[in-house]
Amino acid sequence: MSSTVLVINSGSSSIKYQLLDPADGTSLASGLVERIGESEGHLEHRAGGETVERNDPVPDHGEGLRTVLELFDTVGPQLSDAGIVAVGHRVVMGGKQYDGPTLIDEDVIATIDRLSPLAPLHNPPNLAGIKVARELLPDVPHVAVFDTAFFRRLPAAAGNYALNKEVAERYQVYRYGAHGTSHQYVSGQVAKLVGGGDDLRQIVLHLGNGASVSAVVGDRAVETSMGMTPLEGLVMGTRTGDMDPAIIFHLARVAGMDVDEIDTLVNKRSGLKGLTGENDLRMVHRMADDGSADARLALDVYAHRIRKYIGSYAAVMGGLDALSFTAGGGENDAVMRAKVAKGLQFLGIEVDEERNAVRSKEARVISPDGARVTVLVVPTNEELTIARQAVSLL
Ligand code: ADP
Repeated sequence: MSSTVLVINSGSSSIKYQLLDPADGTSLASGLVERIGESEGHLEHRAGGETVERNDPVPDHGEGLRTVLELFDTVGPQLSDAGIVAVGHRVVMGGKQYDGPTLIDEDVIATIDRLSPLAPLHNPPNLAGIKVARELLPDVPHVAVFDTAFFRRLPAAAGNYALNKEVAERYQVYRYGAHGTSHQYVSGQVAKLVGGGDDLRQIVLHLGNGASVSAVVGDRAVETSMGMTPLEGLVMGTRTGDMDPAIIFHLARVAGMDVDEIDTLVNKRSGLKGLTGENDLRMVHRMADDGSADARLALDVYAHRIRKYIGSYAAVMGGLDALSFTAGGGENDAVMRAKVAKGLQFLGIEVDEERNAVRSKEARVISPDGARVTVLVVPTNEELTIARQAVSLL
């Protein structure tokens, strides 16, 4: 019997899970519980080519996870026969404390809880999932895999803001980054594909609903666009990414908005959605094709921001050997990839039109043969990375 890991990603109103074999990446079952706490919940469990759906209310994370375990029992695969050796939990904020996967005990739980003010929307639901899963599956080790861990060793010049030192120290205001599991996995895949060593300089573009970019030398992240929170950096589905922080004071003074309103504005009502009404790149392209000037501007701002980061990260690393695109937009949006690369030949970045147009679930090179920078599309796999990191501790 093979060994498997149950990976749990517990968000504010959802739980995503996958049972997989960390050795070869086979997924034995996956699913999600959505709209936890709302009047109607939604649950989807996929196993053996079958999908079971339910729309019953799910009052809390405990009930959600209990229902998931019931579905494993009734639909399969049987967890008691699945050879589960660990449960891997995605945790967003590991602060300065964690630079790798961590076996969960009471101390770790207390630390994740203590770090909650730095990630108020993420750590509390992550923790809720951990607590319930430990109760329901008490006989296997539970491992926390932190989104910030890959960036824990950012060089000090990249990890600090030029904020008053005492204030930064007292309130732990540092650049922690996020999406680290994806950046680590994708940069590792790129290194394998291009045969890179300790001096391989690469940029990874994670373009999902949340979006971030990292600079990686060898296997070490040296820069990343998300900061103390995921708000910093690229234009995202609903987040502004970088902007002058004084805009916040301006809105407070002139528009009379309070902190929570501004928080919602910049995190949930901005980005592509704020510019066009749609947060999904696919819809924004469609609007642009139909002649929307707002949508065209949004795509321009989106690509411009990415290009700025590519230039600055190439400068940070003193050159560039590989550039990869990942996550929903990065893996599927050939038009955006071409738009990003356009005019970057001076850095050695070129995209071959035919290769870029190929649709595939496999990692692939899209630059022409002999190009100075290898440009790639690499599907991310955060669940597999979490599973592998969890078993690495056993
Ligand atoms: P999440 O950040 O929610 O995990 P994903 O990595 O699944 O996101 O990416 C979702 C996003 O990917 C969508 O919001 C959409 O913008 C983008 N996307 C997915 N497919 C395409 C496509 N064919 N063309 C352009 N964008 C796409």
